[in-house]
Amino acid sequence: MKKFPLVVLLFAFALVASGGMMLAAEKKTAPSKEAKCCATAAANGNDCVHSCCLEAAKAGKNCKKCGGSGPRDTSAAKS
Ligand SMILES: [Zn+2]
Ligand SMILES: [Zn+2]
Repeated sequence: MKKFPLVVLLFAFALVASGGMMLAAEKKTAPSKEAKCCATAAANGNDCVHSCCLEAAKAGKNCKKCGGSGPRDTSAAKS
């Protein structure tokens, strides 16, 4: 009699776990969006002067504080 609730619990846990994994996978493929200030600076051939953006750039990300998101796209920077 004690086994039944345990199985239900495990099933529910597996369901939540798989749902969480799907959510994490979706987060990974978040679109990379450059912050406005950085895009403007890049358009003028400069690097953004915001310290928050510099910190984010060092980590290979777009500055979230300034409206950016996802990984930094460095493919366009070369040329
Ligand atoms: Zn910036
Ligand atoms: Zn910033």
